[in-house]
Amino acid sequence: MTVWEYAPAPESRDIANLKPSYRMFVDGQFADGTGEPLKTINPATGEVLAEVGTASTADVDRAVKAARRAYDKVWGRMPGTERAKYLFRIARQIAERARELAVLESLDNGKPIRESRDVDVPTASAHFFYHAGWADKLGYAGYGPDPKPLGVAGQVIPWNFPLLMAAWKIAPALACGNTVVLKPAETTPLTALVLAEICQQADLPPGVVNILPGAGDIGAAVVSHPDVNKVAFTGSTSVGKQIQAALAGSGKKLTLELGGKAANIVFEDAPLDQAVEGIVNGIFFNQGHVCCAGSRLLASESIVDDLLAKLRTRIATLRVGDPLDKNTDVGAINSAEQLAKITELVAAGEDEGAERWTSPCPLPDKGFFFAPTVFANVSQAMRIAREEIFGPVLSVLTFRTPDEAVAKANNTPYGLSAGVWTEKGSRILAITQKLRAGVVWANTFNRFDPTAPFGGYQESGFGREGGRAGLEAYLDV
Ligand code: NDP
Repeated sequence: MTVWEYAPAPESRDIANLKPSYRMFVDGQFADGTGEPLKTINPATGEVLAEVGTASTADVDRAVKAARRAYDKVWGRMPGTERAKYLFRIARQIAERARELAVLESLDNGKPIRESRDVDVPTASAHFFYHAGWADKLGYAGYGPDPKPLGVAGQVIPWNFPLLMAAWKIAPALACGNTVVLKPAETTPLTALVLAEICQQADLPPGVVNILPGAGDIGAAVVSHPDVNKVAFTGSTSVGKQIQAALAGSGKKLTLELGGKAANIVFEDAPLDQAVEGIVNGIFFNQGHVCCAGSRLLASESIVDDLLAKLRTRIATLRVGDPLDKNTDVGAINSAEQLAKITELVAAGEDEGAERWTSPCPLPDKGFFFAPTVFANVSQAMRIAREEIFGPVLSVLTFRTPDEAVAKANNTPYGLSAGVWTEKGSRILAITQKLRAGVVWANTFNRFDPTAPFGGYQESGFGREGGRAGLEAYLDV
């Protein structure tokens, strides 16, 4: 058989306009933070990309004061028609600087350029466009004729979708008339700081958006600052619980978007080749660093062998490597810590007796990489069936009846997303209603749209982001 090799097709990193150093953004200006500077690295090579100045708790106070002034004097009073113009400008600037942002995101995060270019950046822009449309129509959103903003929003985001999470947080906050203090993740601060530049380009009034790079303690200082009215957090369930405990009784409005362990259920009548594509997209998109990843495959026992064979054939074709190469399917794991966590959970899966298969694909000899892995014969008690691995690792369980599929799918402390694959529309309707998950996809997976609310049940958090429902989190209702 002739095997056709792909020639390398890397995007030029010059497009990223990478600067040697970056600074925090407070009150409309980039300024030296008084925290310890951090170095952000390229997880595909280990090289230092840039030095980033961080905020101290005193800087958090400055930023919250700037956000309060902007809220009281300008943004909170501005008519929605005017606020909308700024959001449209930001959306357009993101679209105009899309290639730069995509390359920078792939450098800093390790995700394949195909994803940052085709998903992260366009969806970030779409969130601003969508919410710009709401800014002057809030009276028609179902929250009363004249719903009011909350004030200053403190927002903390993770490293898996750095620009997109910033857009998910900032766009609805601004559309509803709030001002923002946002802390990006320590390992991926760069695109949020370019978004700050875009806010400047859009002439956003000073203080409306403030971006403070820093570690977890700065996130804690942002959310617990007494003059913050609303907190929005995306990240791990353990930190989410700490924030919920810290905020109890404070009167601050809180939304938490936490971890997940989604079931992707494949019935015997499902179109298997299509399901294989959906399963692959469900777990290997963004190296599996996705809170709603389809990390538990629940396959009907009658087709599991056929499905596994097809899956292995397909997964073996995934190309793992240079995130900037347009042919790359699976990029770098974001950090050494995350790689260690994945490695530890995969070892636990083997120890507990699951059957491991790992793609024979070549891996780069530097950087943080993990080959796509599938565990068969997984039982519900195993750690790989219960814990969020947050990596390119799929756990396969089986079921015999639809009721068993639902019971196993719901047997998790999480409840963020789920998938159902079947040819029967009636079965889709029957099963999706029984699944305790905020988002359920039918015959597809990992589809995102600003109009669709996203959020969880149980330990996956509460509150919704996106769509009409997502506005509630930023309104005094
Ligand atoms: P964290 O929850 O620790 O980080 C998310 C964000 O919160 C980061 O900006 C982090 O800062 C900040 N933070 C950390 N501690 C606090 C605190 N006490 N108060 C306020 N903010 C804080 O996630 P990790 O990055 O440590 O990832 C650990 C695991 O969490 C992953 O393996 C994965 O399972 C899960 N996860 C889930 C995500 C999701 O979308 N549901 C996203 C990311 C992770 P800093 O970057 O400095 O740590």
